[in-house]
Formats: sequence, C-alpha cells, structure tokens
Amino acid sequence: MKRFDLTGKVALITGGSRGIGAAISLALAEAGADIAVLFRSRRPEAERIRHLSADMGRRCELIQYDLADLDGLESVVDDVVQRLGHLDVLVNNAGIAHLLPFDKVTHDVMDRTLRVNTMAPFFLAQAAARRMINRHQGGRIINISSTNGIVAEALLAPYNASKGALELITKSLAIELGPHAITVNSVAPGLIETEIGEGFELDPDFERYAIEHIPLGRYGSPEEIAGAVVFLASKAGKYTTGQCIVIDGGLTCDQFPRLQFAKKN
Ligand code: NAP
Repeated sequence: MKRFDLTGKVALITGGSRGIGAAISLALAEAGADIAVLFRSRRPEAERIRHLSADMGRRCELIQYDLADLDGLESVVDDVVQRLGHLDVLVNNAGIAHLLPFDKVTHDVMDRTLRVNTMAPFFLAQAAARRMINRHQGGRIINISSTNGIVAEALLAPYNASKGALELITKSLAIELGPHAITVNSVAPGLIETEIGEGFELDPDFERYAIEHIPLGRYGSPEEIAGAVVFLASKAGKYTTGQCIVIDGGLTCDQFPRLQFAKKN
C-alpha cells in the first residue's frame, strides 16, 4: 500500500539480526527500504538478513558494533550514510536484560544495561538527528522499549529503569525534533518469543502463569511488533510523535487477574 511504502528510504536497525530486530529489518525491507543492520557478535544471523533482503531487491549493509561503547556511535551513523547515501529511519531495538534481585545487582550490570538500552539509543538518536536536520528531509526515530518501561517487574530493576528512561527520552526528543519534521516514538512489546530471556532461571510454571495473565492467551511473535514500526516509519505515521504503541496482547490492561476468580453462573 502506497501510504506504507518506504521505497528510497534508508533505515538503521540496531540488533536487527535476530529476534524482534530481525522481524523489523525484514518488514522495513519488504516495505521498500534499504537497511543497515547493526549486530554485536552473531554474524551468521546478520548474514541471513542480508540474503533475505537481497532476495527482495534491497541493499543491506552489516555493521558489527558493541553498543556499550558510546564513543563510536557518531561513526556508526557516518558509516551508514557513507555506505547507503543517507539515513531516514533509526530503529533503536538492541537491548539486554539480566534477571537479578535488587540486592545482587552489580555496578557492571547496571552500567552495561543503561549503556546498551538507554544511552546508546540516546546518542545514536543525537548522531542521526544531526544528519537528518542537515538534510532537511525530516526523519523517524523509533525506540523499542518494553511494557517494563511503563510498569515495573520484580528482579528486573536495571532493565525497568533503562526502559522507563527510554520512554521519557522518546517524549523529550519528540518535542525538540518536531520543528525539524523528525518524529520520535516508541513501541513497547510485552512478552515476545525471542532469546532475550533464555538465561533467566525461572520455574517452568512461569510460562503457564504468564499466559494466563495475557488476555490474548499467548506470547507474541517478533512479526507482531514489526508492523507498528513500519507504520511509524511510513507516510501513514507522519503526524504521530512522542507516543508509545504498546503491543502486549492486553497484558498491561489488567491490574488484577480477577477474571479467573469470578464465580461461574
Ligand atoms: P534478542 O533476541 O536477545 O536479540 C538482541 C539483539 O540485539 C541481537 O541482534 C543482538 O546482537 C543485539 N545486541 C544485544 N546487545 C548488543 C550490544 N551490546 N551491541 C550491539 N547489539 C547488541 O532480543 P529481543 O527479544 O529481540 O529484544 C529486542 C528489543 O525488544 C530489546 O530492546 C528488548 O528489550 C525489547 N523487548 C523484548 C521483549 C521480549 O519479550 N522479547 C519484550 C519487551 C521488549 P547479537 O545477535 O550479535 O548478539
């Protein structure tokens, strides 16, 4: 559909090689964009995205970079512009999470979580916005936050803090970049099937419990997040800014899971 067409646009997707980011990379490519996929270490997954986007006739450049290093972010954006001509859409998707009681959180965990989930998106947005402003063509910045940026979850204090901050960064930048026709929004997924929680040591009952509390009765898939990103990146989304699109199967609608306790009849 024309209003969602991204032909001629260039998008940078951090963590675009697997999980939610891979679905976003492919959805943007399918909508017509050339893409730059930033990943940290797992090259085969990144190569897979390159092949799939080439099959769609799109250019895809791979950038290997650890976002915990904040000093090179300006050159990451330079690299994208040099290789693909310009930058229209930045998707800050890469993120990490550690499941730990508050008492066990080390400086290192807190520092790395805030660097990757909050500070790298902030400074990448700064670098991207500078180029977008100089080009006078507007732009889109889309931050993948989390329902944990809206309501907290036990054992995830650094992650909650990192995503809550990202939510207010989104609104702050929307105000400052609006005059340049640059929109800044977030997409907040609920529980999505990816590898992010694979190291979490949880009772197997957790999944059953979680599913019982999701009105749609299941985890989401990465593809179910990607459509909102295409909308925000496209002409259809050009008057939407400073907003958060929550995609959680209804999880955060329910303050108390009372329904299962209602008496039958
Ligand atoms: P994932 O499956 O663990 O994938 C993470 C991606 O980010 C990978 O491409 C990884 O690259 C990259 N990455 C991680 N740390 C990086 C670093 N330091 N530098 C550069 N790249 C890095 O994660 P996901 O579940 O798709 O999550 C994507 C985003 O959605 C995150 O921001 C997450 O917080 C958010 N989210 C996820 C869920 C969920 O249930 N899955 C829910 C709410 C929000 P490598 O493969 O090279 O390591």
